[in-house]
Amino acid sequence: MEPRPMIMIEKIRYLESNHFSDWLDTRRKVDDELSSKQTMMCVCGRLATGMHERSCSRYNAKVNSETVKRLKHLLPAKVAA
Ligand SMILES: [Zn+2]
Repeated sequence: MEPRPMIMIEKIRYLESNHFSDWLDTRRKVDDELSSKQTMMCVCGRLATGMHERSCSRYNAKVNSETVKRLKHLLPAKVAA
């Protein structure tokens, strides 16, 4: 089988299981930054309260993808299909 690029969920799982403290630290930093950027409205259009952000799947997906982007250097480029 040809190696293929990892999909987002695999990148998240890989980072969580192989670089847990980097994942946690960077994710917390990204969460703080994004949360302070959206002072009124969340990415989903609802009111951006801390409680909402914790449970908002669109917001959390955004935090995850930004965290993955910042930890890109820790990821293998491709995985076995
Ligand atoms: Zn939201």
